[in-house]
Amino acid sequence: MSRYETLLELAYPWSPSRLLSCISCPCRGYLEITKSLPVEARAPKHPAFRLGTQIHDFLHFLLLGLGSNGRTDVLLDFGDFSTEKWGAVPQQYLEKSYEFVTTTVPKMMQEHGLTVAMSELGMSLDANHRSMRAWDHNGKVLTGKADLILADNKGRMLIIDHKTGEDSIYLTGESVRNQLLVYAYLAYYASPVRLTEIALMAHEVWTGAVHNLTDGNPFCDAGSILGEATDLVDTLVTQAKESLKDITPTPGPSCRVCIARLRCPVAEKE
Ligand code: SF4
Repeated sequence: MSRYETLLELAYPWSPSRLLSCISCPCRGYLEITKSLPVEARAPKHPAFRLGTQIHDFLHFLLLGLGSNGRTDVLLDFGDFSTEKWGAVPQQYLEKSYEFVTTTVPKMMQEHGLTVAMSELGMSLDANHRSMRAWDHNGKVLTGKADLILADNKGRMLIIDHKTGEDSIYLTGESVRNQLLVYAYLAYYASPVRLTEIALMAHEVWTGAVHNLTDGNPFCDAGSILGEATDLVDTLVTQAKESLKDITPTPGPSCRVCIARLRCPVAEKE
């Protein structure tokens, strides 16, 4: 087996972030796949990335308390969340996140007749937030976690991604929609029921707004979304594989969050 083939074997299963790492800079992708950068040489996580992770954890923690049909009576009192654990998250984010889970999500569930959130589906979207997986004839092709999925038991699914950036304009852009399409692809294969309709939305954590990324009526035919998503996944996997043929560092915006940024001689400075 050639070194390139070994590298591709190691890269399986692809995750959305691994695909993007390889496409944005093959050297970054290579280092992430092989874990060959010594621990002492790795850059600490970028502060914005750390904050984003904490906010996602907080939202996930809150969402676990949401009952069927968006019932909120099982949620803990907000006072319980203001502990040291979430102390690093700005108060505004905590409040907006709480409002999103206790008001916006139940309202959306009611409006669209959705009854379950995450764990109750009996699929790989449970309280432990395990990854979803999709398969191709070569084995595991893709794995990933969606931030939030609301569904009914008849095949309708609303997929939501939390966005912690402060620039609303990028939320309705192609990259966010593509990310949601990848989750739709995963959800389609992970769902225990055949999906009939899918809606894609971006949740802007900073303001609490929710942006519809499926044109017109938020719910679209699942078959057409899957067709679009399959083409996208094929393109991304092909691009990532192609990119790994030459692992020359390619500086760009992703240097900001690259583990090699402190040692890389060509890293783009912030
Ligand atoms: S710092 Fe930038 S150029 Fe260097 S490996 Fe990372 S992403 Fe590539």
